[in-house]
Parts: sequence; structure tokens; C-alpha cells
Amino acid sequence: MQNNINSVLKNLGILEFNPAYSTGKIWGGSDTQVIASYSPVDGKKIADIQTAGKEDYEKVIDTAQQAFKTWRGIPAPKRGDIVRQLGDALRAHKEDLGTLVSYEMGKSLQEGLGEVQEMIDICDFAVGLSRQLYGLTMHSERPHHRMYEQWHPLGIVAVISAFNFPVAVWSWNTALALVCGNVCVWKPSSKTPLCAIACHRILAEVLAANDIPEGVSSLVIGNAAGDLINNDKRVSLVSFTGSTRIGRIVSAAVASRFGKSILELGGNNAIIISKEADLDMSIIGAVFGAVGTAGQRCTSTRRLIIQEDIYEDFKNKLVKAYGQLRIGDPLDQHNHVGPLIDTAAVDMYTKAIEKGKAEGANFVVEGAVLSGPDYTSGCYVQPCVAEVENHYEIVQEETFAPILYLIKYKTLEEAIALQNNVPQGLSSAIMTLNLREAELFLSAAGSDCGIANVNIGTSGAEIGGAFGGEKETGGGRESGSDAWRGYMRRQTNTINYAATLPLAQGIKFDL
Ligand code: NAD
Repeated sequence: MQNNINSVLKNLGILEFNPAYSTGKIWGGSDTQVIASYSPVDGKKIADIQTAGKEDYEKVIDTAQQAFKTWRGIPAPKRGDIVRQLGDALRAHKEDLGTLVSYEMGKSLQEGLGEVQEMIDICDFAVGLSRQLYGLTMHSERPHHRMYEQWHPLGIVAVISAFNFPVAVWSWNTALALVCGNVCVWKPSSKTPLCAIACHRILAEVLAANDIPEGVSSLVIGNAAGDLINNDKRVSLVSFTGSTRIGRIVSAAVASRFGKSILELGGNNAIIISKEADLDMSIIGAVFGAVGTAGQRCTSTRRLIIQEDIYEDFKNKLVKAYGQLRIGDPLDQHNHVGPLIDTAAVDMYTKAIEKGKAEGANFVVEGAVLSGPDYTSGCYVQPCVAEVENHYEIVQEETFAPILYLIKYKTLEEAIALQNNVPQGLSSAIMTLNLREAELFLSAAGSDCGIANVNIGTSGAEIGGAFGGEKETGGGRESGSDAWRGYMRRQTNTINYAATLPLAQGIKFDL
């Protein structure tokens, strides 16, 4: 793999860094602190990356502020055309970038390529959007007055992203923020810095080819930048994707300076399996949802809430399906499950299993940390399944690993209550061929999540819809529908073309 990855890095223009990558023109680091990127696939170090210190950060923000003055003045459809070119460049680099995502993060190659496809799709979406940043026109209560609203860019948008979608989350935010007229600063996860450098270089080339000044898109690597962004009044919007624990810190800091934030935090997603479900389809949805990306998606299926009449049958089918899972190198297309991101994640998996057992969980597929020549990184684990009660502390938490909990129910009302009875509210699903059940699940008395699916699992989403969740998932929305409004400020304009100055609400004020 090492030779292959070297050629991938070379094709993406990021080979010339060993031992310490000086980010030079693409803003990053003069800081003395260096972070290493290790692949969870084989445990090998891919590169050292110099992080951004306070001085670098200040330079980035100054440059971004200057760039904003130019960028906001470029007509939105022209900004859209630049995002179109980004989409084309991503098409050209899809294979290499997808491979790097797979190798640095550990998801399957198919999922890595799928992530790049999502980036391409959101660019296409943003191009269309660049001609549709509509505001409403209202009728004024005063004669010879016109009232309407328009949407203006915010300024500097910071994107802080999680390791598990190391490239797509950036593009969801950046493609939209750019067509809206903002400039972007990206702080990626320190676990996947090379994916970020690769994306940044691709966009930097597009911007340079269009003579766009530096600072429209910047990259700051390293943990120091997170805190600086949270507390920086010059950053108008912080779009944060990550754990609820860190989201709470970011949200409080940004709110205390009256900044805006979009919060995309942890999930605890359930599928309700009705006795009227297509069980074969349900098994595929459940297993992919639970073990895809080794259970490291915010939308991963963590709980199955199964109707009691089919519980035993479904459980047996599930155990059989788990027996067929192939765990190993995610770049080998024969494998279903790759590694966790690092050994710290493996520890969390092990501790969650122990805690579950202490609370009474009955493991019908046992967990294990895998060892041997195929698992040298120490990051591969056996996906496992446990029978639990919904109220167990461990079930109420999001463990970012392939642990699936089974819960039994009698009535659909009970199932919906169980599904909703967790602190998080991201994704949810019901498997049923019964229209009444499906509609009740989707009604106001149904799922309390931002995403509710029928006969589709919880995992993954299309870019056309607004993506995000409620409660401790943070309430933010990204990607499609009208999520673009989160990246703009609304201005209401009233124009008087009368020869007098009538006041609103009929107030008289004569001099
Ligand atoms: P994390 O919270 O550990 O890190 C997320 C980002 O925050 C990283 O870039 C990290 O460096 C940065 N960070 C850490 N401390 C910070 C601070 N004090 N201020 C600002 N930034 C700081 O999350 P992770 O382990 O990378 O990702 C997994 C989590 O992300 C899971 O909980 C998952 O559900 C969630 N996630 C949510 C969504 C969603 O759309 N809802 C999508 C992907 C991941």
C-alpha cells in the first residue's frame, strides 16, 4: 500500500513534505508543533504535518477579511461558476481522493469514493443555488412604499469538522458558504489532516486559476485553532461537526460572543422493525447501518427496536448475517468492515462492552479486538450485538463503534417512545409495509429526529435534503433544501417613493 499511497499523495500534490510538511502557501503551519497522520488500515505513519500556531491563525484571519471584500462583490452566479470548477476538479481527482480518505480514515474504498461523489453533488447543487438566493417581497402598509428582504453574506465562516467524514462535511459547508459570498476557514480533525490538505489544494488551484485573491478559502491544522475560532469575534459563523461533548464547549463560547453556529453533533439512531416489515430488506438496512464505516457514522444504527412477535426470528437472522461479515483492509473490496480510527477508539469500544455487561446486556454476538497479520494496526474490532433495555446508561450514550443494541416492543406507540427516549435526535427509521404505521411514525406524534425514514435504514442521507438533528444533536442544518440561509444574514428593506413620510402603525408626528 505504501507505494500506492505515495503515488496517490503525489497525484494530489502533497508528496513533498517528509519529514515535516511546511504548508507554505496553503496556510497552515509555522508552529513548532507537529502532528503525525497514521493510517488505521496498517498502522503506518503517512506523514508529519506542521500545525498552525497563533501567528499563522492571525495571518489567516487578516487575509480572509481582506479577501471577503473582493469575494462578496463578485456576482453570486460567478461565484457559482467557481464552485462548478471545484466540482470538475473533484471529478478529476475522485479516485485519488477517495483512496486517501479510505487509507487515512479507514472507511471502505467504496465509501471513500462515495464521499467524494457527495462533494461533487453538493458542488452541482451549489451552482444552481447561486442563482436562487431568493428573498421575499411584502406589501407595505404605507402608500408608495416597497418592502422586500435580501440575503447578504456573513463574512468569515469557520468549518470545524470531524474525522469520520474527513472531506464531505467541508464541502457541504464550503460550497454553500462560497456561493453565498462568504470566505471560509477550515479546521479539520487532527486525525485526518492529509485529506484536508488534499481538498484545500484542489480548491486553491481552482481559485488561483480564476485570479481570486488568497484568503477566500484557508486551512488551519491543529487543535490550537479550534479555541481561537470559538472566541474570535471576526468569525461570524462557526459550523461545527463533532461530538456533543465538544459541541457544547463550542456552542457556549460562540454564543457568548453572539456569533452564529451550526451544530452537527452526535446521534443515537434507531430502526423500528415492525412485524409488518419486509424482514430481508430490514436485515440489510440494519446490518449496513450498524457496521458500515465500522459504526463510525453520526447516522450509524445503534439501536434496533423490534416487535415482540418477530423478535426471536429477526435476532437469529441478524446473528447469522453477522457471522458472514468479513473484517479487514477497507481497500480490499471483499471486506465489509474496516478498522476504527485509532486505538483510543478501540478502548472506548472495549469499555462500552464492559459497561453494557455490567448493566445487564446480553451479547448475542460477542465483541473482540482482532489481532494477527491482517490486523497489525490494532484498530480492528468484531462488530457485536447485545440485548438491552433502552434506559441503560450505555444505551443512552453514543459509542462510536459497531455495537448494536436490540430492544423489544409490543405496540408502535411504545416503540416510538423508546426511539425518542434518548438525548440525541439525528436519524430514525421504521421498517413496515403498513401505511398507518409509516404515517404515524412520520407524524408530529412520531419520531422526534431531524431525519425520519421509511423502509430505509438510518445511515447516510442525500445532499438534496437539509441534514441535521434535534436535541443534543445540536439543531443545525446543512447541505440541501434551504440550509443555505444559515450562511447568510437577512436584511429587510423598505423604500419610500412618496412625497411625504408616513410612519408605520399610523403614528402621527407633525412638526
Ligand atoms: P470531536 O468532537 O472529537 O472533534 C470534532 C472536531 O472538533 C475536530 O476537528 C477537533 O479537533 C475539534 N475540537 C476539539 N476540541 C475543540 C475545541 N475545544 N474547540 C473547537 N474545536 C475542537 O469528534 P470526532 O471524534 O472527530 O467525530 C465523531 C463525532 O462527530 C461523533 O459524535 C459523531 O456523531 C459526530 N458527527 C456528527 C455529524 C453530524 O452531522 N451530526 C457528522 C459527523 C460526525
